[in-house]
Amino acid sequence: MQLLDGKSLSQTIKEELKTEVDAIRQAAGKIPHLAAVLVGDDPASQVYVRNKVRSCEEVGFRSSLIRRPATISQEELLEVVETLNDDPDVDGFIVQLPLPAHLDEDAINLAISPQKDVDGFTPVNIGRMTLGLEAYLPATPNGIMVLLERYGIETSGKEVVVLGRSNIVGTPMTILLSRKRQPGNATVTLCHSRTRDLAAHCRRADILIAAIGIPEMVTADMVKEGAVIIDVGINRVDDSSRKRGYRLAGDVDFESVKAKASAITPVPGGVGPMTIVSLMMNTLKASQAK
Ligand code: NAD
Repeated sequence: MQLLDGKSLSQTIKEELKTEVDAIRQAAGKIPHLAAVLVGDDPASQVYVRNKVRSCEEVGFRSSLIRRPATISQEELLEVVETLNDDPDVDGFIVQLPLPAHLDEDAINLAISPQKDVDGFTPVNIGRMTLGLEAYLPATPNGIMVLLERYGIETSGKEVVVLGRSNIVGTPMTILLSRKRQPGNATVTLCHSRTRDLAAHCRRADILIAAIGIPEMVTADMVKEGAVIIDVGINRVDDSSRKRGYRLAGDVDFESVKAKASAITPVPGGVGPMTIVSLMMNTLKASQAK
């Protein structure tokens, strides 16, 4: 069994990005600048945003963290987005999800300029990706594509089963993996909450990608011998033996599934760090697009 070590691979890619940023600095070019908008104080969102900002610093990007209280109005948040759209110094920005319930996530997403949409969530980038045109690809699915590519995992002709149909992970994952390019060329099945006999679909998968948000739902009996397992889930599970009172668990029961898998991502340290480097790759691209 091979551990698909996203943490270590992300370090390698960060070194590569750092080399590029050093060259840009030497040539007195534009240093990539990522801004992140964090609304409220959801603990998991704070961790994700902190990791993104820290990663920017590690590779020599500029970063700005824009914090707003959970009570911010829709209009005020739209103003923040417009300001970032218009700021020539900011190459790309993200609005960390989820937003508090009174805010309209779709309306905020639609307000983000596609040229600065380094999360790859806006209709223009999703549409361009679907047509196979140059685009800012959604960070998590693209991070998984990079992971598959760098670990030399063949996807062509393979049966891929994706669990979860979110706009930010499951759905774009199916598009990227079914495209006529490498990695890609896979036969993809998208499963979701209404899928009948999920386990039977899972057992057909050469590559199983779980993005559901239910801790350890995928168990060994649902996995084909030798399958490649990509676990996107990040779930907090109560654990009084831990100082912080919880542990992080994926959507896959790692301990039982690893015995059957030919390769598997851990949680944490698998897909999460790849999402961050993917975001940074998009930001570098945005800074060079002008
Ligand atoms: P989401 O919460 O928006 O949607 C969950 C999806 O799972 C839905 O499409 C639903 O149809 C499906 N689903 C729910 N119950 C199901 C069931 N019993 N059987 C089959 N399908 C079912 O999903 P999301 O935002 O893509 O997040 C999924 C998980 O991935 C979460 O744990 C999230 O924290 C994690 N995540 C991780 C990263 C990362 O960088 N590693 C990035 C984004 C999300």
